[in-house]
Amino acid sequence: MNIQDIHNLFLQCSSLSIDTRKIEKNSMFFAIKGENFDANTFAKEALDLGALFVVIDNESYFIDERTILVENSLETLQELAKFHRSHLALPIVALTGSNGKTTTKELINVVLSKKFKTKATIGNLNNHIGVPLTLLSFTKETEIGIVEMGANHQKEIEFLCQIAQPDYGYITNFGKAHLEGFGGVEGVIAGKSEMYQYLSANQKTVFVNLEDPIQVEKSKGIKSFTFGVNNQNADLNIQRIEANPFVIINYNDFQIESHLIGLYNSNNINAAVAIGKYFQVQESDIKSAIENYIPANNRSQMMQKGSNEIILDAYNANPSSMAVAITNFLQLDKKNKIMILGDMFELGDESLYEHKVLVDSLVDQKQALCFLIGKSFYANKISNENVQFFETFDLFAEYLKNYEFNSNTILIKGSRGMALERSLEYIS
Ligand code: ATP
Ligand code: MG
Repeated sequence: MNIQDIHNLFLQCSSLSIDTRKIEKNSMFFAIKGENFDANTFAKEALDLGALFVVIDNESYFIDERTILVENSLETLQELAKFHRSHLALPIVALTGSNGKTTTKELINVVLSKKFKTKATIGNLNNHIGVPLTLLSFTKETEIGIVEMGANHQKEIEFLCQIAQPDYGYITNFGKAHLEGFGGVEGVIAGKSEMYQYLSANQKTVFVNLEDPIQVEKSKGIKSFTFGVNNQNADLNIQRIEANPFVIINYNDFQIESHLIGLYNSNNINAAVAIGKYFQVQESDIKSAIENYIPANNRSQMMQKGSNEIILDAYNANPSSMAVAITNFLQLDKKNKIMILGDMFELGDESLYEHKVLVDSLVDQKQALCFLIGKSFYANKISNENVQFFETFDLFAEYLKNYEFNSNTILIKGSRGMALERSLEYIS
């Protein structure tokens, strides 16, 4: 069966699913092989649960005329997404970058949805499976699509751009994330810039944050819409930004008071305002969309527990996002500060060095007590009254059982695998 035939069947379906636990009636089920399982084994169950068709790549699981047998289900999913996208006329805004993709994607979505019927990446579904699923959720009714693209190695963004064929692109930043797969910071810059190459080759438009010299340099020669802070050359000139702790920005006669913490979030907000302006969303709508956006899922969330104020940023961490989060935290006008920081993963050869840099900077400051958790921090253990080390979370939890937080302001941040939100149960 060719891709057009599969697409015709897809159009008869209500949705697409790769997980029988979340399957909807009348959907198309794709059996994708994972590391630990072979979803071909779920094909029968998918039909029993109401799927209209199942796509499999192992003929032993063929059931009946509702089974579509292909060479490789994952590749078919990607081809189908590309085919589907090329038959939709809607503009697509694609986002990549080391940090802040999801936050910026959510902000752009709330802003653009004031004027358009938008569809955006759900949660963090930003990889070689998530991007196709996102594209296949777009319909003829969708007026603008917003697609988050993640990458941890070269050529991944190029591949995702070929599937999504974006009309607009924005790279949030080039930071120290996934250094292992990219081969250092230069590798990150090259990898993310694949989006610029796609946009340039196809005469598309890029959004550029003039505050970021790498964006400016790498996007030269591409049609652009720019934004900056106190920059007369910018298409959108933001006059003032402030964060204490929530970000407030001013431009023209507007003041936007967000629920996002940390100056680093001003870049994310400015990007969403710029994109809103570009698509001519009314100023008052841009303002209300951003002011009503409340972050969730452990990303820069502000919360209160007993007498303690907590900035929960335990969603993930890498050297760049750690640095901005700490700078922001130390600048806050608060007393009794404590940082609970966890290991940063996926740094490859740079790991020991990056943790050491961080430890050194924490020893030098006197404003906050630091609890550093995980093997990589522990490998840099030194004796210092400001900084305490715990090799595992369990050892830290044991320590916390006898520790009393009292009117503290606490930053919690570490890689996802550290799941530092577990600290919350020990704070009251
Ligand atoms: P992922 O790679 O997991 O998809 P992401 O790029 O989508 O991450 P977010 O989920 O939006 O990023 O934010 C994750 C964390 O990155 C935030 O909690 C914050 O600590 C940090 N962060 C967000 N925006 C920026 C930014 N513009 N610059 C640096 N760090 C940022
Ligand atoms: Mg994300």
